[in-house]
Amino acid sequence: MKRSYNRVRLEIEGIVQGVGFRPFLYRLAGRHGVRGWVRNISGFVLVEAEGTQANLTSFIRAIKAEAPPLASITSIRSTAIPATGERSFLILPSAPGEKAIQVAPDSDVCADCLAELFDPGNRRYRYPFINCTNCGPRYSIITGIPYDRPLTTMASFTMCDACSAEYGDPANRRFHAQPNACPACGPRLRLVDPAGREIRGDAIATAVDLLKSGKILAVKGVGGYHLAVDAGNDGAVLELRRRKLRDEKPFALMAPDTAGIERHAVCHPLDRQLLEGPERPIVIIPKRPDSPLSASIAPANGYFGMMLPATPLHHLLLRGHGTPLVMTSGNLSDEPIVFRNADAFQRLAGIADYFLVHDRDIHSLSDDSVVRVFQGNPLFLRRSRGYVPRPVTLPATQKSVLAVGGELKTTICLTTGDRAFLSQHIGDLKNSPTLELLETTVGHLKKLLEIEPVVVAHDLHPDYVSTSFAGGMGGLPTVAVQHHHAHMASCMAENRLDGNVIGVIFDGTGFGLDGSIWGGEFLVGGYRTFERRGHLRCVPLPGGDIAARETFRMAISYLYDSYGEALFDLKLPFMAEIGERDRKLLLAMLQRRINTPLSSGCGRLFDAVAALIGLRTSVSYEGQAAIELEALAEQSLPSGEYPYALFDEKAGVAIDFRMTIGALLKDMEDGAALPVMARRFHDTLAAATADVCAAIRRGCGMERVVLSGGVFQNRLLTERLHELLTSRGFTVFTHRLVPPNDGGLALGQAVIAGRTAL
Ligand code: ZN
Ligand code: ZN
Ligand code: FE
Repeated sequence: MKRSYNRVRLEIEGIVQGVGFRPFLYRLAGRHGVRGWVRNISGFVLVEAEGTQANLTSFIRAIKAEAPPLASITSIRSTAIPATGERSFLILPSAPGEKAIQVAPDSDVCADCLAELFDPGNRRYRYPFINCTNCGPRYSIITGIPYDRPLTTMASFTMCDACSAEYGDPANRRFHAQPNACPACGPRLRLVDPAGREIRGDAIATAVDLLKSGKILAVKGVGGYHLAVDAGNDGAVLELRRRKLRDEKPFALMAPDTAGIERHAVCHPLDRQLLEGPERPIVIIPKRPDSPLSASIAPANGYFGMMLPATPLHHLLLRGHGTPLVMTSGNLSDEPIVFRNADAFQRLAGIADYFLVHDRDIHSLSDDSVVRVFQGNPLFLRRSRGYVPRPVTLPATQKSVLAVGGELKTTICLTTGDRAFLSQHIGDLKNSPTLELLETTVGHLKKLLEIEPVVVAHDLHPDYVSTSFAGGMGGLPTVAVQHHHAHMASCMAENRLDGNVIGVIFDGTGFGLDGSIWGGEFLVGGYRTFERRGHLRCVPLPGGDIAARETFRMAISYLYDSYGEALFDLKLPFMAEIGERDRKLLLAMLQRRINTPLSSGCGRLFDAVAALIGLRTSVSYEGQAAIELEALAEQSLPSGEYPYALFDEKAGVAIDFRMTIGALLKDMEDGAALPVMARRFHDTLAAATADVCAAIRRGCGMERVVLSGGVFQNRLLTERLHELLTSRGFTVFTHRLVPPNDGGLALGQAVIAGRTAL
């Protein structure tokens, strides 16, 4: 009986180039008895496949089910075409001038390469730069497109015969693996002292010995340098803190394997899945109380930020060391992470005792990504290495936009069609190195993604560095986007929402439409327009920006709001820390309204409560008080809420917390435990917020609520609010793809500007 053959043309879109997709299809075709060919075409992978209908069906199903680890298929379009009787399956070369499809993110070493790394019989045994088409550096080493060896930082290394043979063999795992290398032809690892003198012997074995003796090492990773010390050595950790000028901000840890993490922290299945994924983010997980690691790693914090080795070098180092290392970004507080060798010796000179370096350059720096799990999904605190430049799919096609973010935790966003590309973490735009980084990132991403924006979006704040940067973008039209509107649009866009929603936007600060400082906002609207329908009652910020660091000022402000001048009669414990002169000064400022801008910032409310209950009166990094207050609250079961009041104001419903503060003081007088008060405060804020949403719904009938802004990094608050809103019939949307904090702001700006008629 003669079998009938069918032929289909498949257009496969997504991250499908530079990730071993063509050899994967070649092997798959062989297994499923399919003939035809594959080739890279601008924008997608084109396949013609011929076989029996059953073979074709199983082939297409396997493409989706077994795609290489670094690939990410967004769509497969299939069209029937006439059969040709072709007998083989070929990988056809890309036509000259073919554009890159999408640049893949950096990835940890795959299981096959890891096995070879520790196989004494393998020619890459203990070679720290082992990789294949399924793993290794990508975004960080690409200098231009198309993604080909000459346009990576591997350009200066010439492959030996053995590596060339692998590279040219379609059946080999290293077919067209651009960073392919071996000890004979590739990059070399060196251990050197601060003067640049090489330490003789096995670099990794010696580095392990130095770490065990308490030394601080600068270690070159995939996106930049880390500073490493033995996490079990309290003295060494404290010394690193001292040299890095980093007072209390938690250090990240790297453990050799998942079992090594579980000895110190409590992992749920999704934590484990995130930890073990090729992106290798830092995952925030609860400490085990009996963990013997240094108490100075994450002081006053119930969590560890932990990750698994993210490069072959890390695997070698951690296996040698056996127990966790502190792996914190190689920089001085607030500066961008160091990623160039020459820079490392200069800027880390006073910090690192030794340097573990190599000659494969990093072209684009990226910090470690940081996530925690929320309701079965990742919640990004920082989206950077391993995820960038993976796009977010927008609800609709729009014009090409560049969005430059805000001031803190800046990222930029470029869009084309219905894809939005968020950059790696750039950081706080307060120092000139960060501004430089903003500039180079914009230029590099435009080139890599071949996007020529027609509009530039920026924050409404007139004094932000990013705002003036946007104005200098070669005369392109600019769109100023209100900060909290951008947060709302960011959450809408990643959830692919259109139309109008209620946006609950809680963060520290953002420039409001009325010129005051917003940060506890209830907005109603969509991408094009919005209205402010509610907010936290405004209080003065005594001293402006200083109030975000000297958080006792907020407690004083909230007390003044309730008790006026009599506030200092209250004799609260935290007041003992404020000198007589400062008290008088603060009071005078509040009375005469000098340097006391009004703010509805929700972050400042957390600061005030943390100071009132005596948790802390100042912070050394943004969000510290809120993080510690959440950690406290998690130690308590729910035990009711404090009272609060809602007032109708011109700018919508205002939540008035004066009664809350009064009840909190009463709790303190009665000697309530700190966790109980912290928990009640969280539950009060959630209840009041749900009430305002219900009041807004009565006016507009909307059922969809998006939650955004840095305060929603707080899992306890988000969970409680989610529960309350859902039980009242709302549909609630939170962030899963980009951070709720200002790291996700550019996405919202980009969509708003993309929809704005100019
Ligand atoms: Zn591999
Ligand atoms: Zn070689
Ligand atoms: Fe914000």
